Amino acid sequence: METLAQTKHHRRKAAACQDCHRVFRHWRCRNNHDWAEAENSCSVRVCPHCCCRRSRVLAARIDKFLVGREQTALRYVVLSERSQVNIAKGMQLLWESWSRLRRSVRWKRKVKGCIVALEVTFNAHDYTWHPHLNVLFEGEYFPQEELTQLWIEATQHRGEIVWISAVNPGTTRELIKYVTKISDLIGNADALDRLLTAVHKKRFVRTYGSFYGLSVADEENPVQGHCPDCESTELIALGRVKPQQVAIDFNGVLRVERPPGDIRKDFLESESFRPGLFLRHKYAHREPPQRDRVQLRREYDARRERADKQALWASWGAAPDSSSEWA
Ligand SMILES: [Zn+2]
Ligand SMILES: [Zn+2]
Repeated sequence: METLAQTKHHRRKAAACQDCHRVFRHWRCRNNHDWAEAENSCSVRVCPHCCCRRSRVLAARIDKFLVGREQTALRYVVLSERSQVNIAKGMQLLWESWSRLRRSVRWKRKVKGCIVALEVTFNAHDYTWHPHLNVLFEGEYFPQEELTQLWIEATQHRGEIVWISAVNPGTTRELIKYVTKISDLIGNADALDRLLTAVHKKRFVRTYGSFYGLSVADEENPVQGHCPDCESTELIALGRVKPQQVAIDFNGVLRVERPPGDIRKDFLESESFRPGLFLRHKYAHREPPQRDRVQLRREYDARRERADKQALWASWGAAPDSSSEWA
């Protein structure tokens, strides 16, 4: 964080990054699922919070996408080139080599589809960058020597030996790690500056062929806009919560741990805001399902009646019923 504040071109991002993931909103869906979302996220590529969130959300999405696919047809490979002093040039060359590989006849014949993620490592000792591609592909058996040879050709002999491995449950996390290992850059403001400039508005994850339907478009700052458990877009915004009340679960969803009394209070408060208790989340893509008008009318009438009764009691001097939400 201090390193970010010392950069020449990106120092104004430090403040946003400092505030990132400090305040969370507690959400509840119509079916009583609870989760939290950060109210403010900075989307700075090296922000540990944003990186962690991004990689977890994407990995969970990929895992879901791979369910039911032939496991033996999936392979993981890392493609790299010689290190470069100029990071932007290194990244550009790598993507160009990748395009050449992808368009080669032998690749096309064997590979049905893939997802690829770019990763960059920094060597502070000799000040070089080592960009590489993590690739998860689906297709026929690819002998290692053949792929290595193809890759060396595609990179115009800058390429390095490739290792093909089978896909296991940890592979997706391996695939979508951080764009870079942040610890390598601590204390090196100049290098961080170059990295942030090179990665600005660049896509790091791409899909091809049979992986095309996998959504990676919002990798920058994936937001759900719907319940992570039932996909409902009818949501209640409960109160704001502190980071210590939030914990991330196995699927990358933030869960809330709060005293039930606090939640109840928030619930009553948001209920008192008319017209609707159920909001459309600001990021929701779909319209919430239309509610049954007759049912709504009935609920409204029931409340009305209760309120009238209450008013009547009050006029008789009786204490108002404290359990009523219209009190
Ligand atoms: Zn952030
Ligand atoms: Zn739900």
